[in-house]
Parts: sequence; structure tokens; C-alpha cells
Amino acid sequence: MLVDTGKVEYKGQIGSSFYFSVISESTHQVLFRIKAEKWMCDCEFTSISEKDCSHILACKHWLNLKKNSKLMNKKEIKTESVK
Ligand SMILES: [Zn+2]
Repeated sequence: MLVDTGKVEYKGQIGSSFYFSVISESTHQVLFRIKAEKWMCDCEFTSISEKDCSHILACKHWLNLKKNSKLMNKKEIKTESVK
């Protein structure tokens, strides 16, 4: 798997944005503007490209897991973590 959510640290919601730290070779700050649904990262990749960098992808994956786990709690579906 390309994305390791163990490297994602959710810092919390400030105003209308979610804040994350993504720890790789260096730590990057990622934020998600909820209303605009826009991701931002402080790494060099996003400043030269419109595409999502690996840090943003890691945070997206983390959010998806969170959504799924809420659903799972309701339906009590047991799944094994996929690696
Ligand atoms: Zn990045």
C-alpha cells in the first residue's frame, strides 16, 4: 500500500479547516478547507504541481478510513485491516 496512515497526525479542526501533520522524511503540514474542499500542503511538490502530493493522499486516506469506521460502528461489520 502506498499510503501509510500511521504517518498521519490529525491536529484538529481550526475554523473551517482540518489540520494534519504528515511525517515522512520531514514533517509536512497539510490542511483541508472544508467548505472549498481544497487540500493544501507545505511541501515543494504542491507548489510546482496541481496534483495532490503523497502527504495529501495520506490525509485523504485517513479521512476515508475515519468515515468508514463510523459506518462500521453503526452496522457492526467486522473487518480486518488491509495491508
Ligand atoms: Zn505534500
